[in-house]
Amino acid sequence: VVVDGRILHGRRGLAAEIGHMTITNEGERCVCGVVGCFEAIASGTALGRRATAATAAGDGSALRRLSAEAE
Ligand SMILES: [Zn+2]
Repeated sequence: VVVDGRILHGRRGLAAEIGHMTITNEGERCVCGVVGCFEAIASGTALGRRATAATAAGDGSALRRLSAEAE
């Protein structure tokens, strides 16, 4: 991220890394160790995992076809 011609590094160099921004104080623990990261709640991987948990194999639902365990 460049602001006023200068590189914005942010804390620990993660200024542009929104995946590990905390968006809630509940839910699954992220691979980074924090609970509530965008990555663990709403990334494509997380949504696929949640779709798998919310459906059953072979149930024929569109959600299952889009889940992490879809064929
Ligand atoms: Zn994280």
